[in-house]
Amino acid sequence: MSIEVKDVTKVYGTQKALDSVSFRIDQGEVVGFLGPNGAGKSTMMKIITSFLPQTSGEVSVCGNDVLLESMEVRRNVGYLPENNPLYHDMYVKEYLLFVAGMYKMKNSEPRVMEMIALTGLEKEYKKKIGALSKGYRQRVGLAQALIHDPKVLILDEPTSGLDPNQLVEIRSLIVELGKEKTVMLSTHIMQEVESVCDRIIIIKEGVIVADDSVSEIKKGAKDVRTIMVEFDKTVIVDDLMKIKGVAETKDLGDNKWLLSTSESEDIRPAIFQFAVDNRLSVLTMNEQEQSLEEVFKELTN
Ligand code: ADP
Ligand code: MG
Repeated sequence: MSIEVKDVTKVYGTQKALDSVSFRIDQGEVVGFLGPNGAGKSTMMKIITSFLPQTSGEVSVCGNDVLLESMEVRRNVGYLPENNPLYHDMYVKEYLLFVAGMYKMKNSEPRVMEMIALTGLEKEYKKKIGALSKGYRQRVGLAQALIHDPKVLILDEPTSGLDPNQLVEIRSLIVELGKEKTVMLSTHIMQEVESVCDRIIIIKEGVIVADDSVSEIKKGAKDVRTIMVEFDKTVIVDDLMKIKGVAETKDLGDNKWLLSTSESEDIRPAIFQFAVDNRLSVLTMNEQEQSLEEVFKELTN
């Protein structure tokens, strides 16, 4: 188990930012942590990285308790904080050597150059951080998080504020890193989650409202399944409504129909049987997924 969060509550003054949060992340998983602004994402990440103590509950990373064994936790975790705070007056290489020094790494120069190459900073590493574009600063943030070769990466909104090209580049870098490391990243961009993550945890007002694989989450928050079916001939609504399990129909034209169930049962065999009984051919049939945006809105509004 890479990350284990049990019953974690965090109270700031009188405000509860996290309320009995529990989840587990296995080694090698790439998990998207989603939620509206103020949901508690950054707070959870600061607790996992030993930057902030929880009010109650337990958190361990690679088997180490974040309160009792914070040095071990920091050794195993690479953290890109929200807004990627960096020293703008330092040169890229100088800064990375400085970070390596904090981890007491000996002979860190080759490792720093390796990270510069990995994050695509070869042309920029002689510049001051303040002179870099946002996308390149983000790469410096990632290089900083990776320098001690941590097993777990915690990335708080790693792509916020990037232009579309930078977005694609940073995402593919994260996918690459996810092949070897456990990654937890927060975002509110849904496509990001689809292109990068295996699993999604959605948080709302400090409470986890969903925790599942991307495909399960896309099947919908509602207990409704919708099948798109295309027949070779005309059918009438009354006949379709007789198919066991069908609660709603929608005519898409050209003998194409959307058939919805009221429960989460698979009606495809019944549709197929209907076609056989009525001497129809089924030209296409597939289950309609809800877009992640729809699911996210439903769960967090
Ligand atoms: P997110 O990262 O999902 O936007 P945060 O974890 O930053 O959410 O914040 C969760 C809630 O806790 C918010 O309502 C925020 O205002 C509050 N909060 C965050 N940090 C502090 C703090 N240092 N002091 C008081 N309240 C805070
Ligand atoms: Mg945040």
